[in-house]
Amino acid sequence: SEANADACNGTVITHHGKELIVRGDNDETISCQLRQNLGTIVCGDHIVYEYIDPDSEPKSAVVVALNERNNILQKSGFGGKAKAVAANIDHVIVVCSLVPKPNSYLIDRYLVATENLPARPLIVINKIDLLDEENEHVVNDINAIYETIGYRVLETSATQNTGIDELQSMLAGSTSILVGLSGVGKSSLVKDLLPDIDIRIGEISAASKEGKHTTTVSTLYSLPTGGNLIDSPGVRDFSPVNLDKEQILNGFVELKPYRGKCKFANCSHTNEPGCAITEALEEGEVNPQRVNSFRKMLEDSEQ
Ligand code: GDP
Ligand code: ZN
Repeated sequence: SEANADACNGTVITHHGKELIVRGDNDETISCQLRQNLGTIVCGDHIVYEYIDPDSEPKSAVVVALNERNNILQKSGFGGKAKAVAANIDHVIVVCSLVPKPNSYLIDRYLVATENLPARPLIVINKIDLLDEENEHVVNDINAIYETIGYRVLETSATQNTGIDELQSMLAGSTSILVGLSGVGKSSLVKDLLPDIDIRIGEISAASKEGKHTTTVSTLYSLPTGGNLIDSPGVRDFSPVNLDKEQILNGFVELKPYRGKCKFANCSHTNEPGCAITEALEEGEVNPQRVNSFRKMLEDSEQ
């Protein structure tokens, strides 16, 4: 068939049932219908659309193709079923805070999920304004564990605006998503990163046939510094889906080099003789807390 001269490229910024709201590469925000079955389309997907009636107000279009994805983030939905939530993510920002204290197993699960997308993780310790002698070990421990194995750790205060410029510049030009336990300050960070979020929500509502937009659905916002932030409360607090043994090892960047080095090919990396990871632990080459997380994740994946 002949290529349609009116076809436009765009990014899905959100959806309301069968209606997709798309930001065209020409910067318009437009309501698109999904007529053909193109499979699941999620926030962050790159699609091709064609106008139905360019003179209607608001304009409307139909999605005609879904471009290949770099990755797709999934969370556990009802009954542990994987649910796709966002696509084409470059950065996953794992947010924790001084108060409540971080859960290192959860941080490790997010990191493993991110490494397997694949996307680049960034660890943020928020509420740094609450730093005192009693909790400073939290920051020191996280830096000691994660910076040693190559992750960036950024300290922020969403309420005092500390580290926000640095966070903005680290996110510039890429598509990011914030994840972490509720209460660590993700909504506050989103407000700092997207000061005009209410105006953007208004624009989406105006483009939508339904005439309204709720922030409970995943939504992609463009950042003032370029790039995008995908946000939705249900995605912020998501629990990573269970991965298989290979993916779990792949997700521990500092343990990956020991792959295939154990005496037994089917080593469970717990109590077998000749386990390369146990040996690395005994030699002090790897962090005991990370090895604990690794073993716990393997155990959890078997259930
Ligand atoms: P979310 O559940 O992760 O989205 O967290 P919220 O952004 O709703 O924040 C939870 C609570 O922590 C609120 O009472 C915020 O005012 C507070 N909070 C968020 N960021 C900071 C911070 O940097 N410092 C302090 N002291 N409190 C914060
Ligand atoms: Zn082993």
